[in-house]
Amino acid sequence: MSMPDGPESDGREINGQTFSRADLHIHSAAGDGAASVEAIVEHVQNCTDLALIAITDHDEVVGACEAREMAARRGYRFEVIVGTEVSTLDGHLIGLFMEKRVPWFMSLERTIEAIHAQGGICIVPHPMSPLAFSVGRRKIMRVTRSRQAGIYFDAVEAFNPTMAGRVAHVSVLEFNETVLHLPEVGGSDSHQLAQIGTAFTLFPGHTAADFRKALEERNTRAEGEFWSAEMHLNGLATQQWQTLTCYPRQWHRRMRDIIRQVGLTDDPK
Ligand SMILES: [Zn+2]
Ligand SMILES: [Zn+2]
Repeated sequence: MSMPDGPESDGREINGQTFSRADLHIHSAAGDGAASVEAIVEHVQNCTDLALIAITDHDEVVGACEAREMAARRGYRFEVIVGTEVSTLDGHLIGLFMEKRVPWFMSLERTIEAIHAQGGICIVPHPMSPLAFSVGRRKIMRVTRSRQAGIYFDAVEAFNPTMAGRVAHVSVLEFNETVLHLPEVGGSDSHQLAQIGTAFTLFPGHTAADFRKALEERNTRAEGEFWSAEMHLNGLATQQWQTLTCYPRQWHRRMRDIIRQVGLTDDPK
């Protein structure tokens, strides 16, 4: 990956328009990622040519908000979109342009509604993958056919470089081209610094607002490079460690939330 030497260094000319790169699927140590928010922000500024990133921790926006503030305060050349990867009852769903977290384990439709109600956009990550908690073809169609106002996807993750993305990649491209016709985005699903930017979205312009406009105009491209086995093994080792050390606390909180949601207790917050 080339090192940046100025704000225009990430530009790529396509049909007379200058395109920038965005990695819209990054996990931080505020969730189950290995790298701290600060390490991610520094890495993106100094070692990548990304113009835009989204931090998308599972069911949280704390790390993403911190990253957005840090990048702005330090006057860095890239923007941070606050995102979250929500665990719905029907698979993972990414919300971008968020301000607060969305409750987990709601139906896909209720989650989409909650994301849109915040002014956010909904992206299906690693669609139809048997190797991750993914929204499958039937459920994607259920949303696509919904006549309820506000129930729709804004984009599909057409490039996810992990094994989960790789096994479904060809089917996803074909399904989108023939049936869905959704704008395509790419995101690395990175849990480590070295994985950031391994998949990306190309969009004309440079800012988060430019990216949003590009989505509306269906003028985005998803590109990247699938991970090597070694990259996967490094990632798995880190994640298993994180699961052992960080997750018991989060699981406890998650279970408490579920119990409250299904009304087994009226224990106040
Ligand atoms: Zn996921
Ligand atoms: Zn993810």
